[in-house]
Amino acid sequence: MEVRTRFAPSPTGFMHLGGLRTALYNYLFAKKNHGKFILRIEDTDQGRYVEGATEVIYNTLRDSGMQWDEGPDVGGEYGPYIQSERKDLYLPYAKQLVESGHAYYCFCTENELQARRAAAEAKGLVFKYDKHCLNLSKSEVEQRLAEGQPYVIRLNAPTEGTSTYTDLVYGEMSFPNDTLDDMVLIKADGMPTYNFANVVDDHLMHITHVMRGAEYLSSTPKYNLLYEAFGWEIPQYIHLPSVMRDATHKLSKRDGDAYYSDYIDKGYLTEALINYLALVGWNPGDNREFFTMDELIDVFDVHRLNKAPGIFDVNKLTWFNTEYIRRMDLDTYLKQVTPWFDQVLSGHNVDYHRLAELMHERTEVFSRVPDMVRFLAELPDYDLSLYTHKGQKSNPDVARTALNLCLPVLEAIPEDQWNETELHDRLMETIRESGMKNGQVLWPLRIAISGQASTPGGAMEIAYLLGKPETLRRVHLGLEKLG
Ligand code: GLU
Repeated sequence: MEVRTRFAPSPTGFMHLGGLRTALYNYLFAKKNHGKFILRIEDTDQGRYVEGATEVIYNTLRDSGMQWDEGPDVGGEYGPYIQSERKDLYLPYAKQLVESGHAYYCFCTENELQARRAAAEAKGLVFKYDKHCLNLSKSEVEQRLAEGQPYVIRLNAPTEGTSTYTDLVYGEMSFPNDTLDDMVLIKADGMPTYNFANVVDDHLMHITHVMRGAEYLSSTPKYNLLYEAFGWEIPQYIHLPSVMRDATHKLSKRDGDAYYSDYIDKGYLTEALINYLALVGWNPGDNREFFTMDELIDVFDVHRLNKAPGIFDVNKLTWFNTEYIRRMDLDTYLKQVTPWFDQVLSGHNVDYHRLAELMHERTEVFSRVPDMVRFLAELPDYDLSLYTHKGQKSNPDVARTALNLCLPVLEAIPEDQWNETELHDRLMETIRESGMKNGQVLWPLRIAISGQASTPGGAMEIAYLLGKPETLRRVHLGLEKLG
């Protein structure tokens, strides 16, 4: 039997990390088993329609390297793959259940239901539909239908006993049937409910393994009732625990840490994110941590999915990201970092290639790059105390001497020879002749031209990147400051 999994997102406009991980595990499981990965858009709830939301789904999956075998835009044997385009096919299935006695027409109006709900709540009871219309005679139903009375179709759920099924992650799950409601299958507007469409589609699309968030664990008995009523084969269930920030906190929209786009906007790499996400809730059985998508497919095993919530640790993601950046070649790095340089350096004529060499090993997340290189565009307003450095034997007095020593040397370098070798050779020779220690000169020089204690590269590299006029301007400013 061919393994067929599906990712069935509702188009909300955002891809939650939990959803992305669900997609990933579905993809890995299908590919591991040489099966098919299907994308189905669950948009029956039109009230939630968000412009461009399906594109967010397509782009996120494609950027992440998960190409679906069947889906809205690529087609397939069991389409359409967007539920709103399938809306007419559900009603006949619901009628089939009415015929077989598993479902029934319900004509109760919203007002009637509300009154009964209020009455139940007044007695401290949880309102469940009371099967009122189950007792209507066939002729009465026909008459009301002929009159065009609005109706819904409900499932006739058992009220006693328990429903049990086996989940691949959670094991045996049992729920008492008296909690089951006679759920609506077809709404008054003729549209299927979300739950009904989900089951009909999983069946029609020959889904063998339903892998989804654990929030569906308790609805699954309702789904199983439908499969049984139709006489359809129940798929294998694999429910996935949620992805959390820590043991007690969810990832949240407000904190900007819940969605895929939050991380991409901050300059995290998709590959690093996917690699880490795979390990949030699953492990390969050994301590390997770095995986390409093909390697993940190779080692993926559903029996290694965790039952405990997955903790998404952004520090760990940052660590992965740093490693992925390090492993890039310089050209790739340069290409990726350029827009981040541009944010603060455009128009400043900085040698990006050289800056990229200096920044490559120090980059953890691209969004931190602009702050790290901003000093090249604009000298920060620094404190004189930066000139004091014990290890380098520097203090403001030493710094004044050092800058006065450097100034004529820098001035003497012709602009067309302003490069690191020239800067290095001339400065080192001057330092040697002066009898000062290297650090006593180079530390103050670096502070004067960068205005900060930590920089990519040292004094020579920064002087080169700034160019001659700006370097001299900053050394003069330093001397002024030192008085
Ligand atoms: N459309 C559901 C959601 O976005 C998925 C349900 C399922 O996978 O069965 O949460």
